[in-house]
Amino acid sequence: MASETGEKVAAVIVAAGRGTRAGQSDVPKQFRAIGGETLLRRTLGLFADKTLCGLAQTVIHPDNTALYAQAAEGFALLPPVHGGATRQASVHAGLEALVPHAPDVVLVHDAARPFASRALVARAIDAARKTGAAIPGLPVTDTIKSIDRRGFVGETLARDSLRAVQTPQAFAFEPLLEAHRRAVREGRDDFTDDAAIAEWAGMQVSVFDGESGNIKITHPEDFMRAEAMTMGLLGDVRTGSGIDVHAFGAGDHVIVGGINIPHVQALTGHSDADVGLHALTDAILGALADGDIGAHFPPSDPQWRGASSDRFLQFAIERVSARGGRIAHLDLTIVCERPKIGPHRDAMRASIARIAGIDIGRVAVKATTSEQLGFTGRGEGIAAYATATVRLPWSEP
Ligand code: MG
Repeated sequence: MASETGEKVAAVIVAAGRGTRAGQSDVPKQFRAIGGETLLRRTLGLFADKTLCGLAQTVIHPDNTALYAQAAEGFALLPPVHGGATRQASVHAGLEALVPHAPDVVLVHDAARPFASRALVARAIDAARKTGAAIPGLPVTDTIKSIDRRGFVGETLARDSLRAVQTPQAFAFEPLLEAHRRAVREGRDDFTDDAAIAEWAGMQVSVFDGESGNIKITHPEDFMRAEAMTMGLLGDVRTGSGIDVHAFGAGDHVIVGGINIPHVQALTGHSDADVGLHALTDAILGALADGDIGAHFPPSDPQWRGASSDRFLQFAIERVSARGGRIAHLDLTIVCERPKIGPHRDAMRASIARIAGIDIGRVAVKATTSEQLGFTGRGEGIAAYATATVRLPWSEP
């Protein structure tokens, strides 16, 4: 249904605010990240879906052109227009920019509501087609009282008839545009949402079901809640461990953690014998309860002879991605008397972070000797112990 009508539907995304209430930050709140992605990018991702909405017009502050370009990268959107001094003026600028495209329905949405769902947008479009003006509302669960100037209760309002109103608000395009133009002509610049302008212009505004998750990020604590919401989506935290050992043989270097370290011997093994990457691979597979490195890459298979172990770790990372998960942390301990690992520790961290596609702050490498005890103490080989912490969606049993 929405796919047939998507091209006649346009959205104005209001992202021109300066966002000072959201706390001490030199960037406006819509350009701050939650769960690794800016609010605006999350919002634009929804409205860039052409099957839902044919055109998306973002309204920004001229100072934020570069930040906008980052947030919109890869999305097919109309070039942004500049907002005005008020939210109302910014929406008006977005509507005027849409005039040449002659949409029949327009959605107006705040960039600071990044959790609106596809279903909510589809409901907004349907409701606007039926009634000409429609807004999402939620029943109020708190008791609401009006107060006087001294801070005393004036009256207790009838909760059943109250709704907390969200965006996207959806309207027949022409009547909303005309209402905005008329507000400018009549010097009215004090409307806090588009429904208020529509009501003032005499449109009947219907209310459809909003979403409790469609929060508006306004205050610093809203960012914490939003972060918790994105983490809640990946709240199934799992830990796996991996152990690997390779023996020394003839050679002039070892490869550990993807780093080539000159030494008087080499590690022997079927692949490049990178004991560190093998332990990490098994730790990740362990967190996924998804077999082990030997099951996925049998030593009997000649194609892994001399293979760079990057591909084993990458394979395990891809298994995490395929399940919608993320690596939270990798921790590797190398046990040997020689070569000295310490001088290569940060290079190993950088190498593992690069192969795994995660930040270096999520990779630990530690080294120890075994006080000349055991096979590592006798210099017969190197052992590695790894722990992986993985976040998965709650979708699985
Ligand atoms: Mg191995």
